[in-house]
Amino acid sequence: MQSFDQTLPILITGGSGYLASWIVKYLVEAGYYVRTTVRSLKDERKIGHLRRIAAAGPGRLEFYEADLMRHGDFNTPMRGCEIVIHTASPFLLGKINNPQQQLIDPALEGTKNVLYSASEIKSVRRVVYTSSAVAIYAEAREIMDQPKGTFTEQNWNLISDLQYDPYAYSKTLAEKEAWVIAQSQKQWDLVTINPTFLLGPTLSGRTDNVSISTIQQLMNGELRQGAPQLYFGVADVRDAAQAHLLAAFTPEASGRYLISAQTMSILEMAEIMRDHFGEAFKLPKKPISNWLLYLIGPWLGFNHRFLRGNLGYVPQFDASRSIEELGLSYRPVEETIVDTVEGLAE
Ligand code: NAP
Repeated sequence: MQSFDQTLPILITGGSGYLASWIVKYLVEAGYYVRTTVRSLKDERKIGHLRRIAAAGPGRLEFYEADLMRHGDFNTPMRGCEIVIHTASPFLLGKINNPQQQLIDPALEGTKNVLYSASEIKSVRRVVYTSSAVAIYAEAREIMDQPKGTFTEQNWNLISDLQYDPYAYSKTLAEKEAWVIAQSQKQWDLVTINPTFLLGPTLSGRTDNVSISTIQQLMNGELRQGAPQLYFGVADVRDAAQAHLLAAFTPEASGRYLISAQTMSILEMAEIMRDHFGEAFKLPKKPISNWLLYLIGPWLGFNHRFLRGNLGYVPQFDASRSIEELGLSYRPVEETIVDTVEGLAE
């Protein structure tokens, strides 16, 4: 892959999203000609912050309406672009009434629609695709089977299904489909970004993102009686956004890039919050006992199978490709958590 023409437009799908908004902001601030798709141009709550980013410049930002489920919606915004960054995909956890309709169809059909458009629009040369660490692993206890004690880009989620973590299933199916489509043609290449759990400030002010709601649960005192002994990889949303830019502009970038700054427990997050904000929030001071969690887990949104697969296991992630090949630097998780809380408190 050769270097790109930096004067051509760059398309980011789902610009209203928590992660995509940062990608749009960084590109506009760097002076690029940016296009983004949103579901509705009338929803100011979702795109008001993008209009302000556009007004601040110096780059140019154009909006297009597109739905993942509508075939051909992405052709017009993609015309003339060499680089496409596909982030749009539903991110829902907890109780989901119709996982096929709410998660699998938009993730999978959206992937097909965007990538078929990429093949139709002859200017496209690279697609940066937002996958997830949940396409790499399903349960923290799988770490026991990893020869080097870490998850890497070699791993795939082989466990999730329509009933058991359908969000992870949607990301796994969709990323696999992306690789199949990419390998069926030679016009553009595919680079995937697989972030662990993202935290950090939100540009839109919206708090309906899953990432944000976890910190909100801590701030609201919902876990004050004790934190579940759950550990996950964490990365800053701003670093994940930079990873997309690096993947777009590094000609040699290829394959999957796992993005993770550090593995943390919910209790460790609460401790960071207490160190910085004192007693401002009713934070947990101890882990909740496992037997109690099994009792009340379903009420908190954790079913027994999930608890068996995750409780007490500490997953580790090898993000060295992102550092060595993309040149990504990670900010400390303390900074990420403090910035998230300060943003929400505002
Ligand atoms: P988000 O704020 O909920 O953004 C999701 C985006 O997808 C929104 O722009 C949403 O549009 C769009 N979208 C959903 N369904 C759509 C449809 N049918 N047609 C068109 N657009 C649709 O979530 P996020 O955290 O930024 O996630 C962005 C990407 O990062 C996703 O692919 C997610 O799987 C991935 N990811 C997120 C995390 C994390 O911890 N946040 C970690 C790893 C990977 P609306 O604004 O109109 O709803």
